Amino acid sequence: MPALDLRRLILLLTVAAALITFANSFQASYRTQRDLLMQQTLQANLTYATRQAYSTDNFLRSTQDQLAYSARLLADRLDQPAYLQGEVTRLKEQSNSFNSVFIIDARSQVLATAPSTLGLTGKTLTSIGAKALRDARKAMISDPYVGSTGNLLVVIGAPIFASDGRYLGHIAGSIYLQQKNMLASLLGSGYGSDGSYLYVVDRQGKLIYHPDASRVGEQVLGNSAVRAVVAGAEGSQRLINLKGVDMLAGYSPLKTTGWGIVAQTPTAVPLGALNGLMLQTLTYTVPLLLLTLLAVWWLSRRIAQPLWHLANIVKHWSAPHALEQLGEVRARYFEAEQLKQSIIEGLMLIQQQLGKLSRESLTDPLTGLDNRRGLRLALEQLQARQRPFSVITLDIDHFKQVNDQYGHDLGDQVLLHLAAQMRACTRSDDLICRSGGEEFVILLPDMDLDSASALGERLRERMANSPSPVGDPVTISLGVAYASAGKHNQTQVLKLADQALYQAKQQGRNRLVAAQLAEFF
Ligand code: GH3
Ligand code: MG
Ligand code: MG
Repeated sequence: MPALDLRRLILLLTVAAALITFANSFQASYRTQRDLLMQQTLQANLTYATRQAYSTDNFLRSTQDQLAYSARLLADRLDQPAYLQGEVTRLKEQSNSFNSVFIIDARSQVLATAPSTLGLTGKTLTSIGAKALRDARKAMISDPYVGSTGNLLVVIGAPIFASDGRYLGHIAGSIYLQQKNMLASLLGSGYGSDGSYLYVVDRQGKLIYHPDASRVGEQVLGNSAVRAVVAGAEGSQRLINLKGVDMLAGYSPLKTTGWGIVAQTPTAVPLGALNGLMLQTLTYTVPLLLLTLLAVWWLSRRIAQPLWHLANIVKHWSAPHALEQLGEVRARYFEAEQLKQSIIEGLMLIQQQLGKLSRESLTDPLTGLDNRRGLRLALEQLQARQRPFSVITLDIDHFKQVNDQYGHDLGDQVLLHLAAQMRACTRSDDLICRSGGEEFVILLPDMDLDSASALGERLRERMANSPSPVGDPVTISLGVAYASAGKHNQTQVLKLADQALYQAKQQGRNRLVAAQLAEFF
């Protein structure tokens, strides 16, 4: 895997930053909107429950008022069956408040009923409602119970008192909770278009009204909103209902009866709307996001490019045109420009120092000729290029005596004199090396043994025939050898020349001996 480069890093960083920021703001907006929507739904349900509680209370109070009014009219007419029948029929028919209306005397005997088809007149009622009325002897609304006709009902009653205060009985209306009536239409009106619904529980947490009529009578205290409203609280909360559905509920208790009204909306309803909303937000923002990413990609290229160029050049800083290439890099911004200038200055300094160092390390300080290191380098290059060459090794004769006789400084002058002569005899391609105190090596690329011998001979003659710094000529002895391309080991060839030089010394000095290859190979 290639190492991460700056461009990728910038890209990665900015894309990650952009995506995280986007995701974060998207999520924050989602949460805010969601909380807002849920809050609104809770508030709406609370308002609805409160309003319904208010109108239901009003409804129940008005039914109680109607009954109370009738009760006053009836007080001294209980012995007039036709009047009683007329009154119950009026109450039953005038409004749709009651499913049935009846009058009972103090012993719960039925005096009149509407509808009269119930056939109860003359009978004694033993139902829970009738008992409750007799026991209470006052205006009341019963808890829901299953009446003699099998209906779940509540009874609302007003007591009838004689002018002397005697309790004479009750006029009462029943409301069948599972059937059509004012209460049901009151509660069931205008809600539920979005999955919201309303239900009513009695003081024991039993369903009195529910859009699903089959659930009426069911105990639902497991629902926390029901528990709260039964305890008399008004409010709203998010809850999981008995069927495991996440709900937003508002609730309000009835003042007249202690029943509770709960309005619920599945949480999924406002959230569903939210999803659509967020999807829309996404379609608005994604193109911009993509555009941003494109811009980031382009910018990251521009930021990284100068550095990438600089890095590439620095990687090959020793290449011949590195400095030139550095100069051509378009830095584009401050840091890259600074870096570029610093690299250029640094590289120039390095090249200067290296040049100086290498020249110094390869040069003999006295004569300015190459030293042994220079010789080795030159030999390596010849080897690399597979070039044939000749080599001359030479040594000043009796140099010790020169030193002894004229002093070391003049000895040095002799060395310089010899160096000058060697330079004069050689081509620019040739390499002259001071290999030791007064010993020298001349490399002659592409020169055969004869030419090399001739050159050596010329040098020997020049030395022998020209005055030296000490006055008299100083002679030299030379050995010559030849290496053909690629065939001969360089150290062996040098050794060969040395041996020839040794022979020259042996044979009396001031002479040149050429090594015959055949003798050695
Ligand atoms: P031959 O080579 O003819 O056998 O005799 P030689 O006297 O030249 O022999 P040898 O190699 O023993 O002496 C070399 C002398 O060169 C010894 C030393 O004093 C002298 N020498 C070496 N390096 C330098 C130098 O840098 N400057 C001077 N002035 N003398 C040097
Ligand atoms: Mg010597
Ligand atoms: Mg010598």
